[in-house]
Amino acid sequence: MHHRESDAVGTEGGHGSAPAIGSYTYKEYVELANRFHGYPAPGIIVGGFMVAAAKDRLPPDILFDAISETCWCLPDAVQILTPCTAGNGWLKILDLGIFAVSLYDKSSGRGVRVALDGEKVSAYSEIAAWFLKLREKKDQDSELLAEQIREAGPAVCSFESVCIQEAFLQKRSKGNVGACPVCGAVYPFKHGSKCRLCQGQTPYSSREALS
Ligand code: ZN
Repeated sequence: MHHRESDAVGTEGGHGSAPAIGSYTYKEYVELANRFHGYPAPGIIVGGFMVAAAKDRLPPDILFDAISETCWCLPDAVQILTPCTAGNGWLKILDLGIFAVSLYDKSSGRGVRVALDGEKVSAYSEIAAWFLKLREKKDQDSELLAEQIREAGPAVCSFESVCIQEAFLQKRSKGNVGACPVCGAVYPFKHGSKCRLCQGQTPYSSREALS
């Protein structure tokens, strides 16, 4: 059957029936994912099939935005395969913990939601073991997992037509900005009378000025 790679997600297309992911060959996508994401995580390969399948279901030539319902892997698949990035604001990343992504017309909000389906994965032992955490990571067969992901493609996904809530369609805007009266950082006044760092939302345990 398939030619076996020594480890992780193989880049070979098996016996010539490798599916494409967007405009890339499977192999090209895995290489891109590897470079962008640091390693070819299962989620970014599955995510590639998901994003490509969602894109296929959108009308051609529309300007679309994306919402990822998880912070894990999927946002990177969106950023590899579409012009939507976290930085340009066309990709919104919600920490809902659900492995699903929507692509939608940025003015009408109409689009397609694709989710990795907890029932459909049961047809693929290793995808199920990985997605549903049925086994410890060390007891998962990463080679077989890669093979099954490639074989399944979007068959493990469910698709919905969606319309995005108005509040999510609004353009991001900082509004007026100015110096925080406590620390001096320039911040958006809509955050309150001082910046969010000074309101206690700080990731730092210490800060010291460097010359
Ligand atoms: Zn401040």
